[in-house]
Amino acid sequence: MSRASEIWQRQGVIGSLVREWGPILDIWEGYAADPEIRFNGSSGGVLSAISLYCLEHEGMHGVLHTAADKITPYLNKTVMSRTRGQILDAAGSRYSPASPCEGLHQVESAPAPCVFIGKPCDVAALQNVRRLKPDLDVKAGLVMACFCAGTPSTNGTLEMLRQMDVDSPGDLISLRYRGCGWPGKTTAVKTAGPGPACRELTYRQSWGDILQKYRQWRCYICADHTGESADISTGDPWYRAIEEGADGQSLILARTLKGQRIIERAISTGYLVAEKADAGLLPSSQKNLLKARARLWGQMAALKLLRAPRPAYQGFQCFSSWRTHLTYREKVQSILGTVRRIYSKNIKQRIALPLR
Ligand SMILES: Cc1cc2nc3c(=O)[nH]c(=O)nc-3n(C[C@H](O)[C@H](O)[C@H](O)COP(=O)(O)OP(=O)(O)OC[C@H]3O[C@@H](n4cnc5c(N)ncnc54)[C@H](O)[C@@H]3O)c2cc1C
Repeated sequence: MSRASEIWQRQGVIGSLVREWGPILDIWEGYAADPEIRFNGSSGGVLSAISLYCLEHEGMHGVLHTAADKITPYLNKTVMSRTRGQILDAAGSRYSPASPCEGLHQVESAPAPCVFIGKPCDVAALQNVRRLKPDLDVKAGLVMACFCAGTPSTNGTLEMLRQMDVDSPGDLISLRYRGCGWPGKTTAVKTAGPGPACRELTYRQSWGDILQKYRQWRCYICADHTGESADISTGDPWYRAIEEGADGQSLILARTLKGQRIIERAISTGYLVAEKADAGLLPSSQKNLLKARARLWGQMAALKLLRAPRPAYQGFQCFSSWRTHLTYREKVQSILGTVRRIYSKNIKQRIALPLR
């Protein structure tokens, strides 16, 4: 993953945030003006609201993103949404493997530019591939990312369902990880079997106690948790305690001039309600992601020392983040914890990939 030095010189970026959070021109806190989108959204429904604005006012053809698979609801499906109903159907974060880039051919062959929504790694992949494909480059009309602390494996979802007493995932009718409130409950609805049809866990129980333990190794050593190469990225404003029953809010980052212009127009046309926020709101909202970024230098040092495979990150000032944002204990832990994982996760083992 490379991070061009051009970022550091991009005009108007907030200097105090560049090193740990990438280019940011403006920060807002806000939500979808449409109450149904806001309610169904993961935080404030902002990704969905901006998508709808782009379909209705920017002449975009569709939105390539992720929804629950209708037949096997504990899996995800890449979809091209073209209506408000379809966007609403796909709102809400899904804490399980998703691969929106598998649908990029639909963007490339679309009659007009499209919106793309993905995790930071999905967005980075799109930005790389568009350099090789001129049609895709033109048709990727707006690129948006959600913040991401890591994707849990499908086994994480299956374990979560077991703890919800859904023993047979084949009986599922629907599965939401959050949304329908803020952060909303994890809700599994099933057809058959004993007990109530609808099972719920709080966000703290599902993400905090179960799913996050199933995050993949590559997410532990990811450098970009906030979608640095997107036009717009959004996450939760966790800087304050959320009251029971509070309506959703999102932190909205404009990373490019295009992203900034679209956010401003979505506000002025009544799709978004948002207020400019202070730069300090980002680090105070995402303390865990700041620590994750800061641990990277220690993790890479341990991987290098033990000759384990590791990604090549260029242009990230990892050492300086490690030195500044971790306590002495966390610094040591970033190295020793990685050494432990190299063995417990058998990271040095080479896996033969099937040749196509
Ligand atoms: C795996 C994961 C980890 C996250 N970790 C954090 C975190 O640590 N801190 C934080 O503040 N926020 C995190 N988020 C983002 C947060 O949950 C919200 O998605 C974000 O605040 C946007 O909310 P919204 O209401 O604007 O989005 P919505 O309007 O609800 O739209 C959500 C969009 O995300 C897409 N989507 C859903 N699941 C996935 C997926 N797995 N992969 C790709 N696209 C998907 C949907 O298709 C939809 O278009 C995470 C999200 C995911 C998927």
